[in-house]
Amino acid sequence: MQRPEPEPQSFDRVLSSMCTEPHSDARAAAERFLAANPGDPATYETVAALEERAVERLATLAEHPIPSDAAGYVTSGGTEANVQAVRSARNRHDGGRDDRGVNVVAPESAHFSFTKAAELLDVELRTVPVDDDYRADTDAVAAAVDDATALVVGVAGTTEYGRVDPIPELAAIAAEAGARFHVDAAWGGFVLPFTDHDWSFADAAVDTLTIDPHKFGQAPVPAGGLLAREDAALDALAVNTPYLESRSQATLTGTRSGAGVAGAVAAMDALWPDGYREAADRAADHADWLAAELADRGYDVVDPELPLVAAAVPESEFAALRDAGWKISRTGTGELRVVCMPHVTRSTLRAFLDDLDRIRG
Ligand SMILES: *Cc1c(COP(=O)(O)O)cnc(C)c1O
Repeated sequence: MQRPEPEPQSFDRVLSSMCTEPHSDARAAAERFLAANPGDPATYETVAALEERAVERLATLAEHPIPSDAAGYVTSGGTEANVQAVRSARNRHDGGRDDRGVNVVAPESAHFSFTKAAELLDVELRTVPVDDDYRADTDAVAAAVDDATALVVGVAGTTEYGRVDPIPELAAIAAEAGARFHVDAAWGGFVLPFTDHDWSFADAAVDTLTIDPHKFGQAPVPAGGLLAREDAALDALAVNTPYLESRSQATLTGTRSGAGVAGAVAAMDALWPDGYREAADRAADHADWLAAELADRGYDVVDPELPLVAAAVPESEFAALRDAGWKISRTGTGELRVVCMPHVTRSTLRAFLDDLDRIRG
């Protein structure tokens, strides 16, 4: 019997995702490198060289003072990058790799990947409150750190509200406590260079940073990014690798997809900086427009700082929009959350509001 070829669903009505349609060059490059394994760089030298380019490109985006000196690699996503940042900081803390008594201090707005990291690595995750505008409360962070703090985390583009924590202030608190400092810009990293937020290696004493090409970078999944100011952060992750020609490996996964590496490089080659700037400007316009339209209809809207709109829409309307085929999601407190990714156009948003108006009657 002939079975129909399964087709991926279209992005037409996807307003909840932090992923998007990959750039055509990135799609083609990913396919070419599907079978190459950057986890074995002495065998797959071409993709290993491409990965160095990816790290240098990402470090340029993240304003590393000398991008060619940055360390890092293309991860399976922001989760792996965050887990590895915690692991590196734990391994570099006083007690070294055997130290199990350390803690990580992060705002409650931090991504749930830090919960996974804490569980896996047996470190204590201390989450502290955010302020009235959903940013890390620096007094609360300062009160939570102690001698056993291995890492302080700041988020540059929170998953729920698109907020940027006070990165320089958090870096200073980490330095004072003798802890490392990590910035999670998994989603925001490809938008923030075109804003005046402080978030990067140039703006503060950032040790490690997560920045995902497979979100706003328009690279195919899986392509996350872990960057470090210095090699030492990656050295702290390296384990010996008998029976591979390369002697050690700092990644969490072993065999990895060359598609992620090649797709990320191709996307950045095609879009950095002008293409990303245009995408970021367009997304910001759409978010501002949608926020204003929702406010006009009487909803409480959280002012979009990055291209993500949250608004208090009643449960019944939310459910009716889902029934109409809209892929939308909710914040932890139940607000509608719309992420203006590059595939989200003005006409998509108009159609969405038309449906909302119809539902409201
Ligand atoms: C998406 C996201 C993550 C997790 O990344 P994955 O690629 O889904 O593993 C981590 N932190 C932030 C801020 C994110 O937006």
